[in-house]
Amino acid sequence: MGHRLDPYEEAKAQLRESLDILGYPEEYFEALAVPERVIQLKLLVRMDDGSTRTFIGWRSQHNSALGPYKGGVRYHPDTTMNEVIALSMWMTWKNSLAGLPYGGGKGGIRVDPRRLSRGELERLSRVYFEALSEFVGVDVDIPAPDVYTNPQVMAWYYDQYSRIKKGSFFGVVTGKPVEIGGLRARVVSTGLGVAVAAREAASRVLGGIEGARVAVQGFGNVGYYASKFLSEMGASIVAVSDSRGGIYSSKGLAIDEVSKVKQATGSVVNYKGVEKLLASSEVLELDVDILVPAAIENVITEENAERIKARIIVEGANGPTTKEGEEILTKRGVLIVPDILANAGGVIMSHIEWVNNRMGGWISEDEAKNKLVEKVRTMFNSVWDYYESKIDRDKHNMRAAAYTIAVDRVVRAMKLRGWL
Ligand code: NAD
Repeated sequence: MGHRLDPYEEAKAQLRESLDILGYPEEYFEALAVPERVIQLKLLVRMDDGSTRTFIGWRSQHNSALGPYKGGVRYHPDTTMNEVIALSMWMTWKNSLAGLPYGGGKGGIRVDPRRLSRGELERLSRVYFEALSEFVGVDVDIPAPDVYTNPQVMAWYYDQYSRIKKGSFFGVVTGKPVEIGGLRARVVSTGLGVAVAAREAASRVLGGIEGARVAVQGFGNVGYYASKFLSEMGASIVAVSDSRGGIYSSKGLAIDEVSKVKQATGSVVNYKGVEKLLASSEVLELDVDILVPAAIENVITEENAERIKARIIVEGANGPTTKEGEEILTKRGVLIVPDILANAGGVIMSHIEWVNNRMGGWISEDEAKNKLVEKVRTMFNSVWDYYESKIDRDKHNMRAAAYTIAVDRVVRAMKLRGWL
């Protein structure tokens, strides 16, 4: 796996590239790179054995030019403040690119939640959100789930905030359970967006998605739903993998059957009747038309980029391609549909949930899905047009086009508001 830069340095390097393409003055760099506010919180939690443990949590509010800060909260033992800041900057660009009325924010707690009891997890979540209650709000900052947080954690956040503020403030978090203002379509949203982005890319590069051969790395929430929707669109999912390995069938896999086996046994590798079993890394190098990395970051690097045969890579995961890997692929003419476009389905569905909560209304599952599909198509079209007309394709990939559109939108809002 490729070496890892400080993610904040990486995020700043991407910002610099976009500002160079746009020809903006140097002073804009700091004005955009520095987060508006980073809150560090000491979290004292009573453990089940009666002892007290101290955890550290953060919320980075990167930019609010376009609207309230929006972005998830992750619980992870390796989370650092710089990682949270970088992720909040990426949220600014993702929300901007999607044309949502949101700025960017991200939160994190340095903790391994798998080592906490349910009661300890609840107390930690409530302490975190209570400490944050002065800094979040329906029109201020709206958290959501991320790595190792889920609708239950959002339910505790919502409840804690509503107790403190004395009301029912549904719109203060998204990704909530359906019973308390969440949307049924949330679970499919990121994978559906990935499939729509892949279909759009295939129509430009392959002449259509029908019959396209696809390999998917990761068979969790994103990988499974991306595979399911892509096969419904007529693509052939020839390989999928999880952390235990991959499976391959040249005729295409029956995705729902594979999912049943994964649920029953814990891994796709136990699915019978496949042509061959693969190592996780082999899935990336198969002779396919489309590759969907949907597991973890930094899997496509300078070490394997030459061996990748797909003509299109659709980034379901966040940050699966390193800068060095991307340079090789760009020279080879491989199209990379970047994460901030390909996996924006989650935050788009969050926006639909938030609007619905604020109106006190309801929306059908199909209506929510249709809105998402339309939004991802529009995003793809605008990035593609920019990529074709304004980007030097020998030097930059589609990622630069997406970042440049996103950064420019934020700059224009900052100028209109008199910040620049
Ligand atoms: P998940 O935990 O549901 O699934 C992850 C999958 O990846 C699992 O099947 C796991 O076995 C597999 N995996 C882990 N390491 C692997 C490896 N080395 N090789 C192959 N497979 C491996 O997570 P998810 O929600 O599907 O998220 C996947 C990625 O998508 C992450 O990068 C996440 O940040 C990103 N993402 C998720 C959402 C969302 O709404 N869930 C939104 C945007 C981005």
